[in-house]
Amino acid sequence: CGIVGYVGTKPAGSVVVEGLRRLEYRGYDSAGVAVVDEGVARTLRCVKKAGKIANLDKELADHPLPLTGQGIGHTRWATHGAPNDTNAHPHLSADGRVAVVHNGIIENFAALRAELVAAGIPLSSETDTETVAHLIGRLLDEGVDLATAMRRVCVRLDGAFTLVAVDRDTPDLVVGARRNSPLVVGVGEGENFLASDVAAFIEHTRDAIELGQDQVVQITSSGVTVTDFEGRPADVRPYHVDWDLTA
Ligand code: GLU
Repeated sequence: CGIVGYVGTKPAGSVVVEGLRRLEYRGYDSAGVAVVDEGVARTLRCVKKAGKIANLDKELADHPLPLTGQGIGHTRWATHGAPNDTNAHPHLSADGRVAVVHNGIIENFAALRAELVAAGIPLSSETDTETVAHLIGRLLDEGVDLATAMRRVCVRLDGAFTLVAVDRDTPDLVVGARRNSPLVVGVGEGENFLASDVAAFIEHTRDAIELGQDQVVQITSSGVTVTDFEGRPADVRPYHVDWDLTA
């Protein structure tokens, strides 16, 4: 339902959760966040809870996230699987290397799920989304980079999706993709944002880029790159959000 991604120097966990709060008005049943812990051994830290963001806040107070500048988050409006902690996003690949959040519906998820099960990959949720995390994870294991993996998976998906992913082993990068569901880039100074709605990042920047149909975006702390699903560079349409927040 609501998606936020961040790369920069601010604490990604707080930026992402505050962004999710800005999207609360859209309605949701669960919320979650994942950040890359840049400690001695890089790990993905994922915290997600059914119910209001207040539940997530409580969980985060008990298990604080590391201060790191790379993270993603989601508020879920369940379509596949009950609204519980397990089905909440982000979803991780089997080895915990990649985290994915998703708005929309993957219509061919049953076939993708069957393929993963046949390959011996255990699925831990009932969501359509989790299949995407495993498909991307398998490509990363083969040495494919995150943006290429996202593109290769997107061409296999039917339905409507905004996807945002982070890879434990790739510093300073968040990748997003969209088809029939919105995704906007917030362009900052030394930081960049992805969100399903500009409301998520408008307190940080009002410079935005609307992603076109079937496009993949890579954000780092210093740049934004957009391609189509085949990897061809795409034209971007920057604009300034000039509406009044208090209106
Ligand atoms: N289909 C996904 C799920 O049920 C995403 C729902 C959403 O858009 O929040 O988990």
